[in-house]
Amino acid sequence: MTESDHASRADQPQLCEVGPRDGLQNESTLVPVETKVAFIDALSEAGLQEIEVGSFVRPDIIPQLADSAEVFARIRRLDGVVYSALVPNRRGLDGALAASADKVSIFTAASESFARHNIRATIAESIERFIPVIEGAHQAGLPVRGYVSCVVACPYEGAVSPQDVADVCRGLLEIGVDELDLGETLGVASPHEIEALLLKVGELEPLERLTLHLHDTKGRAAACARHAWTLGVRRFDGSCRGLGGCPFAPGAAGNVSTESLVSLFDEMGHPTGVSLEKLNDASRLLDMLF
Ligand code: MG
Repeated sequence: MTESDHASRADQPQLCEVGPRDGLQNESTLVPVETKVAFIDALSEAGLQEIEVGSFVRPDIIPQLADSAEVFARIRRLDGVVYSALVPNRRGLDGALAASADKVSIFTAASESFARHNIRATIAESIERFIPVIEGAHQAGLPVRGYVSCVVACPYEGAVSPQDVADVCRGLLEIGVDELDLGETLGVASPHEIEALLLKVGELEPLERLTLHLHDTKGRAAACARHAWTLGVRRFDGSCRGLGGCPFAPGAAGNVSTESLVSLFDEMGHPTGVSLEKLNDASRLLDMLF
């Protein structure tokens, strides 16, 4: 991407497609590798700026993503699109580097109970564990995204305070994370709660550098995205066809759909550059599976 592309996009929403990773990880259906490759290629064609392709975690823990190396090897990469991978540790980073990922993501939580259940570590331990991952990624010239989940509420602890989120964000920035991704894991936030969160985290990091990862459990994700935009957030995660469900609320929506974000910003007069038609083409590739 050139400097002028960056400049022209500075006041445009940027979407990161997380369906192939965060979406499929949370679906029980196993998707054949060739379908994943076709899906990701179609997402590239749709104009997405970033696609989280897979994750390098133990295949016995997340069998849905066990073929991430093969997926990376077979997708057709378009210039200007960032293809990223989630990595839990140094071994995962090695997998991502071997696959020539453009960016890696690490993940922790703003709630101790969620961290214990999800990554089997305290928040402090998880941050400590990421230090060699970040060093290795930076040595290889890769930026690192730091996911923080449960930024408004936790399924085990209930409400999570903006200060708790900011403390985790500060820890991640101190060890060199290049960008923060705030995950509203339960999908219960109101725009007012998103504002309180953003004002607090915004004391650490300009809001245009943050990514907001919304879930749509209560149908409020679009309202939250709209409000976050007015406050200065420019980067949003979305999941094509809302892949991912919500493991904590069976039957409820999980990840906000990329389609709804594209429509929202189109309606607001801030087009994302993503083609809804081509996004639907990508989605249709999965019609037989979900
Ligand atoms: Mg998610």
